[in-house]
Amino acid sequence: MKKLLALLLSVTMLFALAACGGGDDSASTGRTPGDIAADGVLKVGVKTDVPGFGLLDTVDNTYSGIEIDLSYKIAEELGIDKVEFTPVTAATRGQLLDSGDIDMVAATFTITDERKQSWNFTTPYYIDAVSLLVKKDSGIEGIADLADKVIGVSTGSTSMQALIAAAADQEVTLTDDNFSEFATYPEIKAALDSGRVDAFCVDGSILAGYVDDTNHILESVRFSPQEYGLATKKDNTEWAEYLENLITGWLEDGTIAQIVADNGVVASFEAE
Ligand code: GLU
Repeated sequence: MKKLLALLLSVTMLFALAACGGGDDSASTGRTPGDIAADGVLKVGVKTDVPGFGLLDTVDNTYSGIEIDLSYKIAEELGIDKVEFTPVTAATRGQLLDSGDIDMVAATFTITDERKQSWNFTTPYYIDAVSLLVKKDSGIEGIADLADKVIGVSTGSTSMQALIAAAADQEVTLTDDNFSEFATYPEIKAALDSGRVDAFCVDGSILAGYVDDTNHILESVRFSPQEYGLATKKDNTEWAEYLENLITGWLEDGTIAQIVADNGVVASFEAE
């Protein structure tokens, strides 16, 4: 009898193990809209330092911006009112999607062909452009002044390649030696302040969070359109299609234009 019991127990355990290993699809492919609705919480990776897009007010711990409003609107569609925001950077947002910590990224994430190999992106909800932040007394007026300068960029961002290409268009050669890479934007700002870099290069929307009395954005220097899409885990096609339908619908019916205007952000950049 004891033997039979032991056998029964081990068979049961085997089944339980098999269920853990192969049966839980959400662990590997990410949560479906149904899973998220049932859980009651949508988990979104957002920026904390991009005014108008994803900005954290550290006093009352609340977020604001286009990407925050979009997240709440998506939650509403799912029939839930709870959104859990996770701060992300250019370097961490993809990993957090892959690990299943978050359901989507809404964080100034530029759609590129290379990134599309790793994640799903919706149709863009906003188009920005890359720009430069320099000290007011730097004498730097445009890309032509950068040849002998050091430019601060973020690891994992599109900025360095975008600037090299824009410089090449003006017959200015920039190489890796012209760049210094940092993990976060506050670190680039500190390097600009202390003179370790001469310019801070990234999307204009992100630079807007670092303007102060000592520096300015070169408004005439805007290049390389940056199309922001909502990103999801590569295999999670059901969730990606759900979001794609929402975004295309909201672009058509003016919802997104309204959210952009409500957040005091200028309309999408149009390349000349
Ligand atoms: N939007 C650009 C990118 O996705 C700049 C980096 C960032 O979003 O932080 O690479």
